[in-house]
Amino acid sequence: MERYQLFINNEWVDAAGGEWFDTEDPFSGKPWAQVPRARAADVDRAVAAARQAFEGEWSRLSASDRGRLLYKLGELVERNAQRLAEVESRDNGKLMSEVLGQVKYCAKYFYYYGGLADKIQGHVVPMDKPGVFNTVRYEPIGVVASITPWNSSLLLTAWKLGPALCAGNTIVCKPSEFTPTSLLVLAGLAREAGFPPGVINVLTGFGAEAGEPLIRHPDVGRVAFTGGDAAGRRVYVTAAEGLKRVSLELGGKSPNIVFDDADLDRAANGVITGIFSAGGQTCMAGSRLLLQESIHDEFLARIEKITRSAKIGDPTQPDTQIGPVATRPQYEKVLQYIDIAKQEGARCVTGGRALSGAQYGAGQFVEPTIFADVTNNMRIAQEEVFGPVLAVLKFKDEADAIRIGNDIRFGLAAGVWTKSLHRAMLLSEKLRAGTVWINNYRSTSYMTPFGGYKDSGLGREGGFESVKEYMEVKSVWMSSDLNMPNPFIRKY
Ligand code: NAD
Repeated sequence: MERYQLFINNEWVDAAGGEWFDTEDPFSGKPWAQVPRARAADVDRAVAAARQAFEGEWSRLSASDRGRLLYKLGELVERNAQRLAEVESRDNGKLMSEVLGQVKYCAKYFYYYGGLADKIQGHVVPMDKPGVFNTVRYEPIGVVASITPWNSSLLLTAWKLGPALCAGNTIVCKPSEFTPTSLLVLAGLAREAGFPPGVINVLTGFGAEAGEPLIRHPDVGRVAFTGGDAAGRRVYVTAAEGLKRVSLELGGKSPNIVFDDADLDRAANGVITGIFSAGGQTCMAGSRLLLQESIHDEFLARIEKITRSAKIGDPTQPDTQIGPVATRPQYEKVLQYIDIAKQEGARCVTGGRALSGAQYGAGQFVEPTIFADVTNNMRIAQEEVFGPVLAVLKFKDEADAIRIGNDIRFGLAAGVWTKSLHRAMLLSEKLRAGTVWINNYRSTSYMTPFGGYKDSGLGREGGFESVKEYMEVKSVWMSSDLNMPNPFIRKY
């Protein structure tokens, strides 16, 4: 068993209460590491350190120096990618090949935001009043709370850490209780990079015990949350009580729409990648496949064939295509949804079972599953499964595709497969989703915003815009001519 400690004020410490919890390897089903179980007292310590750094050493660094530290962190992440990926894959059972790619891409977030740090500029406003000079300044908010889920702990934290530190904030990160270790390894790299004490802190613990007190803490000014819809709503309410700035990246049930004029080979691979990457455990999974009637049967046969050939098993093996479900509750939830879909009358084309046997380790595996004859009112079409389960629906024409695509409470992403410029433009305009991919799926970049419409969340991560979400805006009025009467100052 490996043992980790909390990272507060650049020091490794135990939880104040001296408690620990295990993190399990979903493939072997065995605990492999112990981490401290942080509670409110640890939150107080971490936030105090972050507050002190915000007001002290961190605020005295120039923006260029802040940027250089982020850049250094990116280099260390690249250099230590293997180790970071190993611990994250051990915690969440994601394919090593996928996690390694993600970790290397995290570095690019740090480079990008490092480069931006000294390019955040205010502006001068040509005022409507005489004798005044008005400037708009962007200032960091203070202490940021980052709360993340288990599916992509490092990457989703990098999406927050990059812009938050670039803007001059300090941060306390609470990873999911299912994936606590990778952020602790990252914290060690941050210290090596030279970040002053208190700028980056990591607390491991549970949502109610560590997450809630962190959001409630009066010295936390900004909450950056990624996770499920239910926890997200709760976080929003808690943060609202303290009038905190909030971003929420929540769930999705994204339509992947294939028209009859699409390159069907490319579309089939895109659809499979969209739903079965990370075993469907991604917020952006293309979990609702909308097929135009005329190609429905042919396309379904294509994706069935690919799905049946998927290599399922040990996530550390390079040729594995689908790994285990990351957590026991999630595994049970996926199987429940398979039952629900069958009861609702959806037709199981392939999959639909749990897998057991030596090659499936502790057996937390679900066969990649495709349901056809799904109608949009079924729960399997409306609710997020967060597993390897695809719901296939039919549509007639563009208007029908747009109607079905939008007839859902989520709005995180959508895919469109067509060779028609007109269709591509029409759907990219009409689909109510934060990201629309045309003839590709799952592409993300530090350069462009990601986030949801409707119940999929609030705010955007990525790109320059997201830096502003970590800043306050200040308007400064200066009298430039003291002889000029100011209409707002009365003479008494
Ligand atoms: P979750 O909501 O159960 O947990 C997410 C995090 O919130 C964890 O760290 C947890 O400890 C914490 N938490 C839970 N309750 C809390 C509370 N009351 N106060 C403070 N913190 C609390 O989600 P999960 O099961 O870990 O992750 C899966 C979900 O995340 C899916 O719904 C998925 O769609 C979503 N997700 C969204 C995105 C996105 O960018 N939109 C990305 C990845 C995952």
